[in-house]
Amino acid sequence: MNRFIPDKAYINPKALDYDKGIAIKNTLESLGVPIILSRSVKIDEETVQKKYIQSKKTIYVTLNNQKKLQPCRPSADYMFHLSSSCPAHCEYCYLQTTQGEKPFLKLFVNLEDIFNVIDNYIQLKPSDYTYFEAGSLTDPIALEHLSDNLKDGIEYFGKSNQGRLRVVSKYDYVDGFLDIQHHNHTKFRFSMNAQYVIDTFEHHTSNFEERILAASKIADAGYPIGFIIAPIMVFDGWKEGYDHLFKELSLKLKDYKKEITFELIQHRYTQTAKELILERFPKTSLDMDEATRQLKWGPYGKFKYVYLKEVSSDMKAFMIDSINKYFNNAVIEYFT
Ligand code: SF4
Repeated sequence: MNRFIPDKAYINPKALDYDKGIAIKNTLESLGVPIILSRSVKIDEETVQKKYIQSKKTIYVTLNNQKKLQPCRPSADYMFHLSSSCPAHCEYCYLQTTQGEKPFLKLFVNLEDIFNVIDNYIQLKPSDYTYFEAGSLTDPIALEHLSDNLKDGIEYFGKSNQGRLRVVSKYDYVDGFLDIQHHNHTKFRFSMNAQYVIDTFEHHTSNFEERILAASKIADAGYPIGFIIAPIMVFDGWKEGYDHLFKELSLKLKDYKKEITFELIQHRYTQTAKELILERFPKTSLDMDEATRQLKWGPYGKFKYVYLKEVSSDMKAFMIDSINKYFNNAVIEYFT
């Protein structure tokens, strides 16, 4: 797909103390992106919808001064951030409610500081592997063509004895990762879904075929790989849709003999997220009808709506059967 180019970039002057900051500025200039040197970002739009759209086209190049990492179960031990937010407009995105009303993109330049913090966490259990997730607050590939941040991250973890990197993405800009000395220390997971869900709800992401091709390139480069199938939705023909997905994946990955993990997450939403989604996407066809849902207590202290027990049990059984029908090297990590 075409690479994302922001409408406007703000650069924290302190970011220009770093080679990475200067390199990103040069790249943005070569792309003709207007640049404002500032310690804050201004989004002038008035409506919720316009603020969202403008924010998703605005980038802030700055520093990540986080010293304390948050836990990130079940996918890793900790999350860390090379960027935050992303240019995509996925209607169901779980970050809708966590990134405020102006979810502009941030790109961080002080990678050495970020890696030093990671080193400190690795030292906490030096005899064991520690896993770090790069995709909790962002899509870590979406801004790669502006920064090479993930490439640097893969190289850093490639040299680490006990640190392991986990990445998840809906983007296909993977060519820059294919020749890196990754030493199997980075695991790529692609966020996949039935074609209907991708086409209907995941705007400005790489499409169904592009993601599958990207996964096969990463597999050919020898990386450990997996898929996050999320959010799994019930729609007309959903079983055929997901079966087709697993069939296509298995055809493209037939020569990949290492294990392939699957993380299965059914669609869920909170009441707050529903209200915000309806403001940002007033014409959405996302099914958020409480009559067909039940409440589940979430780990972040909020109730969320998930499918009724009989629906989610059927979903879980169907997805596991379908994956096992096409793959003999599948490891299903969880269904939630
Ligand atoms: Fe959210 Fe991921 Fe979609 Fe970005 S790509 S909007 S982070 S779900």
